[in-house]
This record gives sequence, structure tokens and C-alpha cells, in this order.
Amino acid sequence: MSTKVRVRFAPSPTGPLHIGGVRTALFNYLFAKKNNGEFILRIEDTDQNRYVEGAEQYIIDALNWCNIPFDEGPGKEGKFGPYRQSERKPLYEEYVKILLEKGKAYYAFDSSESLDTHRKEHEEQGKTFIYNWHNRLKLDNSLSLMPEEVTKRIANGDAYVIRFLTAPDEKIALNDIIRGNMTIDSNVLDDKVLYKSDGMPTYHLANIVDDHLMEITHVIRGEEWLPSLALHQQLYEAFGWQAPEFAHLPLIMKPVGKGKLSKRDGEKLGFPVFPLNWNESVGYKEEGYFSETVVNFLALLGWNPGTEQEIFSLQELTNLFSLERVNKSGARFDPDKTKWYNQQYLQQKTDAELAELYLPILQEKGIEAPISKIEKVVSLIKERAVFVADFWELSDYMFVSPNSYDEKASKKQWKEDTSSIMSEVHDVLASVAEFSSEKTEQIVKKWIEDKELSFGKVMPPLRLIIVGEMKGPHLFDILEFIGKEESLQRIKTAINQLK
Ligand code: GLU
Repeated sequence: MSTKVRVRFAPSPTGPLHIGGVRTALFNYLFAKKNNGEFILRIEDTDQNRYVEGAEQYIIDALNWCNIPFDEGPGKEGKFGPYRQSERKPLYEEYVKILLEKGKAYYAFDSSESLDTHRKEHEEQGKTFIYNWHNRLKLDNSLSLMPEEVTKRIANGDAYVIRFLTAPDEKIALNDIIRGNMTIDSNVLDDKVLYKSDGMPTYHLANIVDDHLMEITHVIRGEEWLPSLALHQQLYEAFGWQAPEFAHLPLIMKPVGKGKLSKRDGEKLGFPVFPLNWNESVGYKEEGYFSETVVNFLALLGWNPGTEQEIFSLQELTNLFSLERVNKSGARFDPDKTKWYNQQYLQQKTDAELAELYLPILQEKGIEAPISKIEKVVSLIKERAVFVADFWELSDYMFVSPNSYDEKASKKQWKEDTSSIMSEVHDVLASVAEFSSEKTEQIVKKWIEDKELSFGKVMPPLRLIIVGEMKGPHLFDILEFIGKEESLQRIKTAINQLK
């Protein structure tokens, strides 16, 4: 086996990739890059019934959007291809034959109806039907039938599956990098189907054969595959192959309550569970999250740096990542935290970058403004934004004058003498030659002091006039931005409406 680290992400294209899947891909990517290894994408599409058109492309698009591209995979053929299991069928046939020849697997002819009957009978007695050493000699298979009968049935074209012959009375030693050592009694395992009647391998066979042939050194996957580990370990032994190392990642748990995060939680609480849009389901990307946000919050779902640091670039994660720092217990998903991350990443972007992102929203609103102006707006309001989509709500008054005034604020701020005070403010501002934030602030404040007025009588109503409500950054910055003419006009209009 090669000494170069090779890991794989092996999704089944049965639908859109859930963010839990993206996390598995991310951890594989980080581990590979940290160790100067290779990250492989293998599409496990042997279950034809569950195949969903477009899912493979979705997976590839999602990895690309997250900036965690694979080194080998569909469309990036390396020397271990093809990377779609449906294109590797003859290999599995060849390898299952090896197991049959070694006496590690056997043909089973039991119909699904007869197996169902067994299951039901067991259930009625409060037991579970397991196809294994208890009963395999009483069932319809090449262990119980005479060899001639087996040959005849196969020649006849009778339907069969190929099952793994679990070794009896073995304490199977398992090792997981995250969970440590475990032992499983082989007598509790069932003889899993390796090859189906439709001539396709099952996940277990295809997965082991491919991990071996693709020289995978570390299998990093979700905890839901831990129950398969004993079988996989036995399969490696049956073939006489060295098994890779295993690391089973903790589940991502619901924000509240028990159980793992599901699509329904997202629908109920209003957050995406997919990286990109998929049919009706909205993705993180389209919802306005930066890919850096998604990578960052996923990295911390199950892994911890051992410090208080929370913001990590992909490069930093790559430098710091280790499987030893992955937790055993489930990681609770926190949708509020994902927003917090987005806010942090938004603040990190330059005004120029954010202005570019804001531009199409403004265009949609029919607003034309030079990019330098948009940059200025962004610099004033970005502090309060979580998403670029929040910008409009936070800055509409920079581009259009308010067409109404917040009712509650008007009641509170507009006193009997406000109209006359605002008229005076109008004249004071009209006299300012250089209409900068500093100058207008200096002049208005001086006027307030000279007149022995309180700031509370002047500044809040002026904000209401300019913005339409009591929000927004430093008022004199807004005045400078909208300019003298527009400021004076807004004051006049408001006095007419509010007096
Ligand atoms: N095809 C499996 C899945 O959909 C892969 C599990 C593994 O990584 O072994 O998750």
C-alpha cells in the first residue's frame, strides 16, 4: 500500500448533498491537504433504484463552491479510475468470485418472500431474524444444498445473492482513530449480502474493493457507518488485504431536542441544510452565506482547535486539522451561530468587494450610482449587516428620500416647536459652504449651543427627517453622502408633512 495519504469522499448520488455530507468531505479534504495527500471523489451509484439525476453534478458543484476540490474523481481521471462505481462492475464480479473460491462467501437462493416470512415469524415471537450461523444451514443456500443442485440452479438462471460467510466465534478487534479500540463478537453479525440478484454489488463489497484498489489509506466517514466496520474489517481479512485506518465522525445534531439534524429541522426553524439550492430547498449559497462561513462553521461541528479561536480560513484549518481533535460525541447545530459567522466574514470583506456584491441588488431597485458611492454606503452600514441582502434595508435612504416617517418615532420626536427648529436647521445647513460631515457637524452643534437648545430637540427629529426612522449611522455622514441640496429638500418635505 502506498505511503502517501489518500482519502476519499464517497457519496451516493441519491439526492442533494446535506451539509453533514459537506462536513465529511471537508474533513477528508483537510486531512489530505494537511498530510500532503490526495482527496478523491468516488460516486457510489450501485443502487440503481435510488439514483437521482443531477445529484452527482450537485455534489461536484457543492465541493467547488466550498473551495474544496477533489484531486481525482469523475471528470478528473487519475490512474485509479473510473471513479463511478457503476462503471466498475466487472471488477466487483471478479472480486466476489475470489471470496467464493476462498470459501468466504456463498450463494443464497432464498426469495424475498421466504425471508419476509422468516422475519414475520421471528417478530411474532419477539425475536429478530438474522441470517447467520444460527440458521444458515436450514436456509436455501450453497451451504445447505448439494453442490450439483447449486450448479443446476445457477445454470437455470435462478435468482441468487452472494452473502458473506461471517467467521464464527471471533472477537473482531476494531480500531477507530476517534473512538479508540472496540471488539465485536462475530456471532452477533449477519451474513450480509455482497452481491445482489441484479448483478450489482452492494455498498459493502464495492466500497471495500474500491478503497483497496484506489489505495485509500484513511476512511473518514459519518458515524452512521460505524456498525458496518466489523464487516468491512472481516472483508479485508477475507481478501488478505491490509485495511485502511478508520475515523467515524460524530453526528450533527438538531438545534433543539434529540436526534440528528434533518431537512425538516431546517424547514421548521428556517435555515438551509443544503449547500446549494435543490428544487424547492434553498441552499446556503443562495441564502446569502459566504462559502467561507459554511466551511468555518462546518469545521467546528465535531472538530475543535483546542483554543478559543473561532474564525479560521481554509488554509488555517488545513494547517491545524487533526483527527485526534475530532470529538466522539454529537455536535449540536446552531443556526444563530452560522449567522454570526457570516457577519464576521462580511466585516472582513473590503468595501470594494461588498460594493460589487451590492451592485446587482441596487440595479434591481432601479438605482444607478457610481461604484465609489456604493463603497462609501457600504462602509457606513456594513457593521449592522449579516448578509449582503441586508444592505438595502440598512441603506435605502442613502439613495431615495423617505416617503413616510415612522409613526411611533414621529409622535415621540415631533413636538410643537419642532417645525420651527427644523426650519432654522434648514437655514443653518443652507449656509454651510463645504458640506462635509465634519463641517456640518461642527456648525450645527455650535448653533445648538449658541441657541441654548438641547441636542435631543434637534438631532432625533433631524434623523427622522433624513432617514424616515430612527436608524442609520452617524447622521452627519449621511448628510454629506446625500449632499446639500437633497438634505435641504428632505427637511422641507418633512416639515410640510409632519407639522
Ligand atoms: N456511499 C456511502 C455514503 O453514501 C459511503 C460511506 C463510506 O464512506 O464508506 O455515505
